Order: sequence, then structure tokens, then C-alpha cells
Amino acid sequence: MAKPQIFREFNEESEFKGAEGVWYWSRLLTRRAGLFRPVVMGMEIKKLNLMNFDRAAMAAWFQARGEKPFRAQQLLKWIHQQGVVDFDAMTNLSKALREDLKAVAEIHGLTVVADQNSSDGSRKWLFELADGNRIESVYIPEAERATLCISSQVGCALNCSFCSTARQGFNRNLSTAEIIGQLWTVNRLLGGTDSRPISNVVFMGMGEPLLNFDNVIRATHLMQDDFAYALSKRRVTLSTAGVVPGLQQLADVTDISLALSLHAADDELRSKLVPLNRKYAIHEVLQACKNYVGEGRRRLTVEYVMLDGVNDSDKQARALAQLLRHVPSKLNLIPFNPFPATMYRRSSPERIESFRDILHRSGIVTITRKTRGDDIDAACGQLAGDFKDRTRRRERFAAEATGGLS
Ligand code: SAH
Repeated sequence: MAKPQIFREFNEESEFKGAEGVWYWSRLLTRRAGLFRPVVMGMEIKKLNLMNFDRAAMAAWFQARGEKPFRAQQLLKWIHQQGVVDFDAMTNLSKALREDLKAVAEIHGLTVVADQNSSDGSRKWLFELADGNRIESVYIPEAERATLCISSQVGCALNCSFCSTARQGFNRNLSTAEIIGQLWTVNRLLGGTDSRPISNVVFMGMGEPLLNFDNVIRATHLMQDDFAYALSKRRVTLSTAGVVPGLQQLADVTDISLALSLHAADDELRSKLVPLNRKYAIHEVLQACKNYVGEGRRRLTVEYVMLDGVNDSDKQARALAQLLRHVPSKLNLIPFNPFPATMYRRSSPERIESFRDILHRSGIVTITRKTRGDDIDAACGQLAGDFKDRTRRRERFAAEATGGLS
């Protein structure tokens, strides 16, 4: 007989697949022994958080257990639109199904450990995950919309030299439930207040979303699903440092908007700012982005952090204009947001303006991003979270900062 799946290790990442085993054993035990909780050899099994499922995965899960696939639509509406976490309140499900679900599954968002308000109206939350790691999300209200900037990983493995998250190192990928949980939880926190409801989501918080491909894509499916958040493809943006294999797969699974963190027009400089460039050079990354956005189907957003004396000269502006000439794109200039012990400075407003003018004159739509939430360290690149760094990068930075004397 095959080894029961129940003996798999249950952590956030395996929880999704482990649900198979949990469901099987819980059905067996509830039927044969009259037990209502899945207990094996005296050990209680971790329940599956239903926030890990997008509609397709949830429909397959129900179907495999002899339930109608449309149960997925009902569940998604309860969870994501009504914010209901109690199965007993799900009145359009039979009592038997509710009991089954209660035995093996649960619904929970994230635990808030800090909530900071910026003088400009933006707000940052620090969330604690089940394993004690902490991540951040930022809410940015504007006149016509409100954007939630979310994290895709605990920390980031890419080590971009101008980013504060990079300094913190990396711990692990977030599960789908932890990604969509940021939107779910903030929606609940804003509900009943006069804050503008979230209309846009950007993957510009901690982490590289394309290095957590499956979990991020499942979360974007929920964001776009009419039975969940019903956001249009223009209102969900994935920002990447240029992971080419991920970019190549993207068009098969989604049509959301894409942003590329470019930051330099030549490979030598870009490799210093974004070390991933040593693996995937500019021309290869831009080609993969072009293939995704397609002929006039949509436009790539190109992000370019303005670093004083590093990438902000007129010559570099002309090189950038040349590079983007054949890419359907719009350019976002991001004034650098400083953090402790960084070696970079923000370009002056005059420098940013003349850089922008050169691009404008070359026919590239260019805007300078307004810095939001910098008084609460919530601006681009300032999210730090709180977690155990598996890369020991934090220690190395501290040693460098003290000249190796620490
Ligand atoms: N890994 C993804 C998403 C996270 S970073 C990516 O690289 O796109 C989100 C955006 O913030 C990126 O464009 C990034 O380059 C920018 N950013 C990072 N640190 C910054 C800083 N200190 N000041 C301004 N922008 C920064």
C-alpha cells in the first residue's frame, strides 16, 4: 500500500498538496470512528487554509471529493467578498458539507503587529505569519484610486544594491494564502472606515514575484476573479527585476500588467545595481517583456530609480531613450528612497527634470513617481519586515559597515 500522504511534513508550502491526505484521512476517521477532528496517532493535523486555492484549484478539490465544482464559487464569495471565516455562517452549504469543511479546513488572514499612518494618507502594516516571520504591505490612496503594494516573499534573494529589503536577506516564499491574505486583511481593516477601497494591487513590496511563480499567479487569479476581487488586468501589476524564465511563462497563465525594474541602460552598470543582470542581460530581459506585452496589446511600465551621479546623466537618459525606442512602454522615474547606511543619494529635482525632458523629447511617456509614505519607511524599496535571514547577508552588511571590526 502506498505510504499515506498524511505523513508528509506540513509546512506552509506543502500544506496545499498535503490537503489531499488530510481530507482523505479526516473523511475516513469521521465516518468510521465518529471523530470530528482529523487526529492521527494522537497528533492533530494542521488544517488547510482555503485562501490557498484559486477557483480552478478549489473546484478540482471539491470535485475530487464528489462535490459539485460550483461549490468553489460559493466558497470564494464567502471568503473574499463577504469576509466570512466561520463555516457555520455559510448558509448555502449543506450542514454535512459544513461539518466536513470544519474538520479539515480553515480560513484566516494575517495578524497585524504594527499599523503606521503617514502624514500623506498612506498606511503601512507589519503582519506576522504563522511561523513568526513578518512582512509589510502599504496602502496608498490617491484622488482616483487606492493602491495596495504587497509582498511576495519574506525578504528578497536578489540583493539589488539600492534596496533596503535586499539588506535584510531572504527567508522563504509566501504561500498563496499569505499573498492574497494581505489584500483580504487590509480590505477587512479598511471596511467601515471612510478610506477609499482598494482598486489596484502592485507586487512592489518585499520579494521578487517571478521567483515565487505559482503562488503569485494563483493569488493574481483570485484578484481578477469575479467571485473574489474582480480587479481588471490593468489594476494588477507585477513588478520584476527581470527573471527571464518567469517572463517567458507569464503569457500562458495571466494577462496582468507588467513592470520591469530597469535602472540602467547598459549591462555593466545594471549588473552592479541589479546583480540578476549577470544572469539575464538587458536585451534578453527586454525581449521577454516585449513578447509578453505583445504588439500594442498593453504597455510595459519601466521603473528607473534615480541615483545621484550613478545613472542620472544626460548621456544615460539618451541611452535609455534609444533602448526603449522599440518597446511599447511608459517610464516611471523613482526618486531614490534612502535607508540607513546606504551609499546612494537621491538625484536632485532639477536633474530628474532634465533627465525626464530628454526622454520626453524622444517620444517616451515619462512620469516621475511621487514619493509616498517616506515618513513611515513605506516608500519603494524601504520595506524591511522582520525575519530570520537565511542568507546571512545582514551580518555581512553589518561587518562591511564597521570595516569588518564587528
Ligand atoms: N523585485 C521586484 C519588486 C520589488 S521592488 C522588482 O525588482 O521589481 C519594487 C520597486 O521599488 C522596484 O522598481 C525597485 O527597483 C524599487 N526600489 C527598490 N529600492 C528602492 C529605493 N531605495 N528607492 C526607490 N525605489 C526602490
